[in-house]
Amino acid sequence: MPGRRILEFKIVLRNVPGAISEVSQILYGYRVNILSGYQEARDERFHWVFIADLSEAGIDPKRLVEEIKKLGKVIAVEYSEPEIDHLIIDDLCFPLMVQGERSLILRSSTFNGMMRTIRDIVGRDAGDIIIYQLGARAGADKMRRLKEYYKGFESRDLLKIALKERCAKGWCIAEIQRFDEDLCKAEVRAEGLFECLEAAAGEADRRGSQFFRGYLAGLLTSLWGKRISVDEVECISKRGTACIFKAYPGTA
Ligand SMILES: [Zn+2]
Repeated sequence: MPGRRILEFKIVLRNVPGAISEVSQILYGYRVNILSGYQEARDERFHWVFIADLSEAGIDPKRLVEEIKKLGKVIAVEYSEPEIDHLIIDDLCFPLMVQGERSLILRSSTFNGMMRTIRDIVGRDAGDIIIYQLGARAGADKMRRLKEYYKGFESRDLLKIALKERCAKGWCIAEIQRFDEDLCKAEVRAEGLFECLEAAAGEADRRGSQFFRGYLAGLLTSLWGKRISVDEVECISKRGTACIFKAYPGTA
């Protein structure tokens, strides 16, 4: 934003009612305009990170920080200025944590490019097997963690949580269409699956999903304690509006 004074702030507050309100009053008083941000409670502390426009503010950032630090519910404040003119890129949130775990954000094209590289090196069929197994291991690991974290939850709910997380992390919008624990069979419908969208757009082979298909197999194998295979019976890269996966007892 050329000509604007854009900065990033990170404020750590006590995790109590009214803490954000007190800071907001100061920001409002100095006409600081917040452009984007995120908040997260971590036990006793509340982290508030935001990008703000100080172009119209009647205060410089150092003094603003001093004013905020005087508030009783504020534990720490820091800010970051653009290192390149007018270009502010978040550098106060590192390391990125999701549910207490160190996480990364990748463009889906980066991930799909990595999978293409595997296929280019070892061949398409062998590559598909490797990618399926990568998914299966990741899915099994995820379900192991969910079972530890959500002790006592029903099996169907654990799968639902795993699928909801995939939506939160940008993979797809997935829902359970069938869940038969006795027969170890399930059906999952996934809309907008990142793996298959690229293929649907003609930027990759229309071979459907390998990673997510394997991921589902890993989730269910860990959930039911029995080897589960998953087939993709419909795929947006071929036709239709969603990818449909069927899980059944298997050996793959
Ligand atoms: Zn698909």
